[in-house]
Amino acid sequence: MRIIIATSNEDKVREIDEILEGTGYNAVSMKQAGFCPEIIEDGKTFEENALIKAKAVHALTDGNDYVMADDSGLCIDPLDGAPGIYSARFCGENSTYPEKFAKIFSMLKDVPEEKRTARFVCAIAVVRPDGTSFTVRGEVEGVLHEKPAGENGFGYDPIFFVPEFGMTTAQMPPEQKNSISHRGRALRKMVEQLSKEK
Ligand code: IMP
Repeated sequence: MRIIIATSNEDKVREIDEILEGTGYNAVSMKQAGFCPEIIEDGKTFEENALIKAKAVHALTDGNDYVMADDSGLCIDPLDGAPGIYSARFCGENSTYPEKFAKIFSMLKDVPEEKRTARFVCAIAVVRPDGTSFTVRGEVEGVLHEKPAGENGFGYDPIFFVPEFGMTTAQMPPEQKNSISHRGRALRKMVEQLSKEK
């Protein structure tokens, strides 16, 4: 059974396909499936945005495929969960990550280090061929470090320090990050649910 992944990121599709190995499902990108819709992500939660994306692609199919989409971001406790669903756009769509980091730490200047707690959140939505759907969520807890460290990963990884491992997610090899990350956790929950349905 194929699952169309509602993303234009082919690396994401490959990563998901690897996780699905042995489950009887295989991942294909929406491009491979012949779709490239313009999707407006105007939900208020990660789950809503993931569902908006998955449903938009499902609406283009002939009802024979599963469709999956994810939505993720960084939620900072002393900033009431910001930037959250706006993580990619925080500080302006075209700002660099060093600019985003500087803005965050200027907003946190009166917050002591031990209170600079945050989590990465990932919601995954799956729409089944018949149009029914489910969502799952994965999270990983961390503390923000003002001095970026590490070369791996992307986005906010250099400032996301995981106390349990004594390093940022940008300092972790990819397999280690996948084993504890919000996305890895959500993907494993999705696989668990799909396996039950097979
Ligand atoms: P998307 O849901 O994959 O589009 O991710 C939204 C944004 O959240 C990304 O552009 C990053 O800014 C941030 N983000 C999500 N996951 C991660 C991660 O694993 N590391 C660092 N930043 C992330």
